[in-house]
Amino acid sequence: MNVLIAGLATETNSFSPIPTGRLAFEDLFVSRQTTSLEPNLFSAPLHEWRRMAEDLGWSVVESLMAAAQPAGPTIRDAYETYRDDILKDISDAQPDIVLLSMHGAMIAEGYDDCEGDLLTRARAIVGPDVTIGLEIDPHCHITDAMMDVADLIVCYKEYPHTDSPDRARDLFTLVADTAEGRIKPVMQRYDCRMVTMFHTTRAPMRGFVDEMIAQEGRDGILSVSLGHGFPWGDVAEVGARMLVIADGDTDKAAEVARQFGQKLWSLRDQLLPDWPTIPEALDAVQNAPQTPIVLADFADNAGGGAPADSTFVLAEVLKRGLKDIAIGIFWDPVLVRMCQDVGVGGSMQVRLGGKVDVTSGDPIDLRVTVRGLRDNMFQWMGATKMEMGTGVWLDADGVHLVVSEKRTQAFHPIGFTDLGLDLTQMKAIVVKSSQHFYAGFAPIAAEVLYINGPGAITPDYAAIPYTKRDNNFWPRVENPFSD
Ligand SMILES: [Zn+2]
Repeated sequence: MNVLIAGLATETNSFSPIPTGRLAFEDLFVSRQTTSLEPNLFSAPLHEWRRMAEDLGWSVVESLMAAAQPAGPTIRDAYETYRDDILKDISDAQPDIVLLSMHGAMIAEGYDDCEGDLLTRARAIVGPDVTIGLEIDPHCHITDAMMDVADLIVCYKEYPHTDSPDRARDLFTLVADTAEGRIKPVMQRYDCRMVTMFHTTRAPMRGFVDEMIAQEGRDGILSVSLGHGFPWGDVAEVGARMLVIADGDTDKAAEVARQFGQKLWSLRDQLLPDWPTIPEALDAVQNAPQTPIVLADFADNAGGGAPADSTFVLAEVLKRGLKDIAIGIFWDPVLVRMCQDVGVGGSMQVRLGGKVDVTSGDPIDLRVTVRGLRDNMFQWMGATKMEMGTGVWLDADGVHLVVSEKRTQAFHPIGFTDLGLDLTQMKAIVVKSSQHFYAGFAPIAAEVLYINGPGAITPDYAAIPYTKRDNNFWPRVENPFSD
């Protein structure tokens, strides 16, 4: 067998003003030698696929892998160039199997469904008999085009996404069984008519994911995925969908997808973000018997396309005169450059944050001392590495600010501690992240609180100003199944 592996991944927030162009991809990952580099969230599947294919004695063609930090729509030329590079490789290689690592919620100028577009063009090249497998992030839009073209689609199950290599192995096994005629996969979806976020680290979603895993390999069910949806993608098919793959039995796949979808619907009241405001969260910090408290600045998560430079929490911390508070990771390459010039130990007046968008809040003027500075920093996302470029630690009279050259969310404590900052001495660690922080920060937290505060991606799903999907979804309406 001849396997072609490739990837093109970013999550598009239609409401973000930050363009996703060539530089945004080059900042995160663009390579044709992916499997000789360190794996990140999106490139890790290619490492697994190459290893498993070679173990079987199959030949591997490694095409392009390109990934960008989530932001606004991808610039048309960047998308078309990367897409056409992959398609040319597929055409040249004429593989028996195509395996793609994508996000599932990528929008480019002129393309609402980049995954569906790329898959459709790939299928036109290879014909009906080649097996096409797609691994995607659960924050995806599982579209008609993707369903029509792919033989097998598998989503990561965990949020934080610690399982992208595991799901890559699941997909490879199914793809190999398909290509060698041992199974005949059929896929069915169920539209849950829900727009929300699903954290799989705690009830009720922990148990739900465990049930999905337990169903796989039983009663002819090959794979169960939940496409959570990405709420800030303004496309017709945004929303949560169950995706089930069965061996040859379409009715069975549809029935299991419906059962899981209706179970998810029954859990909706437990999924409402009943979280503290910024003042309430800081009250909790000030009254906490044990620290540090980890506060998630959910709404300024770069991983959801937010600027990562909002100042709402910092402003309240300063207003209260709190000390021993760490906040990060602010995106400000200009300030990083100034810190490189003044050097560790240097002090200066800086204007921090509030620059990229109205959702960033107001900039804040501070006197800071540069306490740490390091190039080529990275953070762990599960077993994969996410780069943050040069990072700095600024001390503003006991309020400790981590700023990075590249826009990234706070994935892991080493984004702070590799600069020399001792997080165990903090009363609170404010992380600009919606949920990926959890795997790394929960073990050092006395308590984790999610903040319901202002920013680019507030958890007010009913208010997202969609222009392309209907309004028949929860929580916009109480019961979208009533008609
Ligand atoms: Zn995701």
